[in-house]
Parts: sequence; C-alpha cells; structure tokens
Amino acid sequence: MLQHIRIVLVQTFHPGNIGAAARAMKTMGLTELVLVNPRLFPDEEATRLAAGAADVLESARVVSSLDEAVNDCVQVVGASARLRSLPLPHFDEPDAMAADVIQNAQTAPVALVFGRERSGLTNDEIRCCTHQVSIPANPDYGILNLSQAVQILAYEVHRAWRKGEASGFAYQRPLDATPPSREQFMHFQSHLGRLMQQSGFLTQPHARTEEQLQALFARAQPSRKELSLLRGLLSAFESHLPEQ
Ligand code: SAH
Repeated sequence: MLQHIRIVLVQTFHPGNIGAAARAMKTMGLTELVLVNPRLFPDEEATRLAAGAADVLESARVVSSLDEAVNDCVQVVGASARLRSLPLPHFDEPDAMAADVIQNAQTAPVALVFGRERSGLTNDEIRCCTHQVSIPANPDYGILNLSQAVQILAYEVHRAWRKGEASGFAYQRPLDATPPSREQFMHFQSHLGRLMQQSGFLTQPHARTEEQLQALFARAQPSRKELSLLRGLLSAFESHLPEQ
C-alpha cells in the first residue's frame, strides 16, 4: 500500500532538498518520488544528501507539470504552511490526513505535494489538489525546510499504516465508494463548466463562480459512482439545450 503513496516536489530549487526528501521517504518506507521541473537534477548534492536512499532518486520520475504528476491519483494533498483562499477540505493535523490517505491508498495512487522553497505552491497548483494539510508550528515562524516537511508527513503516513498493520485491521471500503481519479474529476468539472456557459447561467467568463462550485464538489468528495450519476444528470440537461 505504501507504494501507492507518491511524494511530489514542485520546482525544487536546491538539489540537496531533493536528496534529503528521498532519504526522509525511504526511512518511512516510501519510494515513489516525482519531481515537477526541478531546477537541477540529477545532481551531486542531491545524491550526497540522499545517502542510503540513492535508489529512490534513481527511480524518481521527472515531469513538466503538476497535472502530469497527479492525474491518476484519487487524492492529492497539498502541503502548505498557510491557509489559502480556496476552500478545499483542510487537514489541520497531519495524523488525520495520514489516516485518510492510508485508506485511499488501499486501492489507488494518492499524492502528497510540496511547494517551492521560496514561494510554495501557486493557486493553480493548489487547484490540482483535493485537500490541503498544514503542519501546526510556531505561529511566529512556522515554515519548515522542504525535506523536513516531507519527513513529518511521511512519518505520519508510516505511523498510520503501522497502526493498521499492527491491529490486523484491514481498511475496507465498498468498491463503489472508490474516489474518482483526478482526471475523471477534471472531466466532470469541464462538463459542468461547459453546461454553465451554454445554458446561459454564466453570461461572461466568471472564474469565481466556477471556482466556488469546483470547491463545493471537491469538499463533497463524491465517489466514482456518484460522479458518474452527476455526469448523467448533466448530459440529460444538456440534451434539452437548444441547438447552438
Ligand atoms: N514561502 C513558502 C514556504 C515554502 S516551504 C510559502 O509560504 O508557502 C516549502 C514547502 O514545504 C511548502 O510549499 C510546503 O509544501 C512545505 N511546508 C513547509 N512548512 C510547512 C508547514 N508548516 N505545513 C505544511 N507544509 C509545509
């Protein structure tokens, strides 16, 4: 199950942080590392700080957008020290995030996403996420080093996994409660967006309204089955629109 948990680092500036993140992952049994546009990689400094986790670096995938890194994931958790304006479901405690992630990782890939050292994640990147998590810290200085943030969240995930193993409790979720992949969710969102335009509900490009509805559906966390019901509903409405 831990192999379903992917760590995604967005546009890392210092290659040493990539190495230290790989080490943090391996100590917690995580191996899936995806790098979105790293400034320098591969790099000696990354290899040096990875120490015994060079294998995690070697198998790391480099991609050119966050979309590409998380499209197949059923849950995408953005780690951020600050609350953003987008009202995504938010985990205030990493252990609550870890319990949820471990449950989803039973059946499908999930991602934990970390931002740039200087500027974190952009709003567009947060929009790729289904959830956010913050590591509670000193209110006067609560921003952790990137690889240390990876360490803490990886530790929590490993701990939640260990607890499940030790109790012999197998997380079970009915098949039709499986969450949709991000790609399926995106198709729904664009179908909804299209229909809002065509039906005259949106008379001008009104990013805010669309965004609010997107956040609503993200919070609702529909299952795959529920999402396909919603799509069926949209198609039924669509068939009553006058020809354009
Ligand atoms: N100045 C940036 C900080 C970036 S730190 C900002 O304001 O967002 C680099 C990354 O480490 C962040 O993007 C986030 O993914 C992670 N991180 C650092 N501190 C964190 C915290 N307290 N909680 C959750 N993630 C944190």
